[in-house]
Amino acid sequence: MKAKKPADSSLKPESQMMRYAYDPELASHAVKPPMYLTSTFSFTSAEHGKAYAEVINGLRTQRPDEDFSNTYIYGRDTNPNLEIFERRLAIWEDAEAGAAFESGMAAIAFTFLAFLSPGDILVHSEPTYGGTDFLLKSILNRFQIRAVGVNMKDGRAGLEKVLADPTVAAKVGIIYLESPCNPSNLMADIGHAVACAKKLEKNGKRPLVVVDNTFLGPVFQQPLRHGADLSLYSATKYIGGHSDILAGAALGRSELIGKLKLMRAMLGAIPSPHTCWLLTRSLETLKLRMNAQVEGAKRVAAYLAQHPKVERVNYLGLLDPHSEQGQIYAKQCSAPGAMISVYLKGGEAESFRFLNHLKLITMAVSLGGNESLAEHPASMTHIEVDLEDRLEGDITDALVRLSIGIEAPEDLIDDIGQALLYV
Ligand SMILES: *Cc1c(COP(=O)(O)O)cnc(C)c1O
Repeated sequence: MKAKKPADSSLKPESQMMRYAYDPELASHAVKPPMYLTSTFSFTSAEHGKAYAEVINGLRTQRPDEDFSNTYIYGRDTNPNLEIFERRLAIWEDAEAGAAFESGMAAIAFTFLAFLSPGDILVHSEPTYGGTDFLLKSILNRFQIRAVGVNMKDGRAGLEKVLADPTVAAKVGIIYLESPCNPSNLMADIGHAVACAKKLEKNGKRPLVVVDNTFLGPVFQQPLRHGADLSLYSATKYIGGHSDILAGAALGRSELIGKLKLMRAMLGAIPSPHTCWLLTRSLETLKLRMNAQVEGAKRVAAYLAQHPKVERVNYLGLLDPHSEQGQIYAKQCSAPGAMISVYLKGGEAESFRFLNHLKLITMAVSLGGNESLAEHPASMTHIEVDLEDRLEGDITDALVRLSIGIEAPEDLIDDIGQALLYV
């Protein structure tokens, strides 16, 4: 199903999600792509099989007269459902290519594996998703890769300060940003990080700028348009959107995505045809869902911000436009998303009472699904983060993270209102 024709750039991404990269003629004219449950594929001739194997293993590049548009080899390299999903996802960021993975963590880990070597330094925004934090601080160091954090509260100046250290500047392989970051909702300036990376260019080589775009992307923030090299996703969240699959993705230039795909094929982290089929189904309603989620989140955040039991609300829709965060938002994002970090008056006991009394909103980790979820980062998603780093990152006992779904906003507000009575 590798449709030969390019995406139609005169159409909006949402208009292409139902048709692009799938040719019904190759599948009994089924309107929806069938699920290709096969681990291996037959060749039309031995010569064709050899040529394809050479190209996908990177032994040579494809010749203009060669056609591999409907050629596959083995399920660990790629499969038709995977290709449809990757090509459709790439449209949202106008990316040259995309690669899907078994999970968001696999997309992140494979990026580090593919583009870092022992001795390299990885400069990253702090805080990060709990799993990423563990990977950065407790796994990469075993491979002599040092992670240096930049607190998001220190803004652009914080990144410049870290890169001003010549021992760091000489060895940075990747500048890794999670924006907005999980769980405190602070943003990193992607364009600024790209400018910093370019200043470090030496002999045609510079650090890659990689952005975890899970919270806003791909609809409301497109890091590649701001010069980032790779945009990464936990597709488990908004892209999947129904809390029923685990998946990850990377978007970027073909050259970089090609390296990730080779690494993925060799180490085996390809999502199943079933997962890819569900992801493709989900892309059809991605914008519809995310728009509805933002509308609900705006109303919930406004309600929380005026509530006497609430200390403060970190929500992109409530930023002061004159602050650095407000300026980054205006430059980089087209809507504030549906993640709300609410700091209650009190500590763990108050947070727990609030969570235990929610009725419509489900108490669970994860985010981005069509149902609203609430969780306590300090004791759930970020429990493995060092206490010191947790406090630096504003992951206090008073913080509750909300992911707003597509329920009626007034029902969500009623539920939050009754639960706050117990705080
Ligand atoms: C969930 C999440 C991840 C990890 O994704 P999985 O699909 O759970 O592996 C990475 N980054 C962010 C920001 C996330 O929210």
